Amino acid sequence: MANITTSMVDELRANVSGTVAQPGESSYDEAVNIWNASCARRPAIVARCTSSADVAAALRFARQQSLVVSVRGGGHNYAGGALCDDGLMIDLTPMKAVSVDAGARRAKCGGGTTWGELDAATQAHGLAIPGGFISRTGVAGLTLGGGFGWLSRLAGLSSDNLVGAEVVTADGGILRASDADNADLTRYQWNGRAAGGSTANTKLDGEHQPISLAAALTRDRAGIPCRLLAAEQGSGLSGRPGPALKVAASRRATQQP
Ligand SMILES: Cc1cc2nc3c(=O)[nH]c(=O)nc-3n(C[C@H](O)[C@H](O)[C@H](O)COP(=O)(O)OP(=O)(O)OC[C@H]3O[C@@H](n4cnc5c(N)ncnc54)[C@H](O)[C@@H]3O)c2cc1C
Repeated sequence: MANITTSMVDELRANVSGTVAQPGESSYDEAVNIWNASCARRPAIVARCTSSADVAAALRFARQQSLVVSVRGGGHNYAGGALCDDGLMIDLTPMKAVSVDAGARRAKCGGGTTWGELDAATQAHGLAIPGGFISRTGVAGLTLGGGFGWLSRLAGLSSDNLVGAEVVTADGGILRASDADNADLTRYQWNGRAAGGSTANTKLDGEHQPISLAAALTRDRAGIPCRLLAAEQGSGLSGRPGPALKVAASRRATQQP
C-alpha cells in the first residue's frame, strides 16, 4: 500500500494547476468512473491535469515517490487501462481544447478529447477525421491503438491520420513529435503502440489531418449517416450540430422504411 502523506499531497497540489484528488473526494470518484465499471483497480491519488506542464509535474512526482502511473484519456479501454492500483492516475479529462485550421486541413485536440467533441469541431468546417464507431471513446487512446471506424475504408486508420503530437515523456520532458521533430518517437508512439507497445507514461495532444466530409458522404454511404445521426441525438457531442450533421440526418431519414 502506497503511503501518501499529507505533505506529499500538498507538494503535488502546489505543482499541478488542475485538481489533485484522493479516495473519498467527489473529484476522485468522477475520475475513476470509467466505461468498464467492473474494473476494480483504485489509484492512491489522481492528478486531473489541465496542461502538459501539469502532466510533467505529476510524472516527476510519481518518479520521486516510486508510484505506478496510469493515464486516462476517454476512459473507454476495455481492460480499464486508465486505472492503476495504489499508484498515480493522470486524468486528462480536463484537457479538451480543440482547434481546426480548415485551410491547412489540420485539427488539434487535447489529450482528454472524445471523438464526439473532435467531430463537432471538424464537421462545422465540412471536414472529418477517421475515428471509431461511437462518439465517446477518447481520441488519443483509440488512435494509439490504431483506431478503426466508419471512415477507415475510405481514409485509413486513425493513427494513419495523426501527423503530430505534443508528448510528455516518462522523465517529464515535453516534446513535439512529427515526421520533422523526434521522428523516432513518432514512429514509436503511434505505429509502435498500434503494434503492441506501451505509452502509459506519456500524454499526447494530437494533431490530425481531416478529409472532406462531402467526399466521405458521397463515397461511404453505408457508414457515415448512422454515426452522424447518433451524434446529433446527443451522444457526447459538446457543440451544436453543424450543417453536415443535418444533411446526414435527413439522408438517413429518407433511407428508413
Ligand atoms: C464502447 C466501446 C466502443 C469502441 N469502439 C471502437 C471503435 O469503433 N474503433 C476502435 O478502434 N476502437 C474502439 N474501441 C476500443 C477503444 O479504442 C480502446 O479501448 C481505447 O483504448 C479507448 O481509448 P480511451 O482514451 O477512451 O480510453 P482510456 O481507458 O482513457 O485510455 C486507454 C489507454 O490509452 C492510453 N491513453 C489514453 N489517452 C492518452 C493520452 N492522451 N496520452 C497517452 N496515452 C493515452 C493510456 O495508456 C490508457 O491506458 C471501443 C471501446 C469501447 C469500450
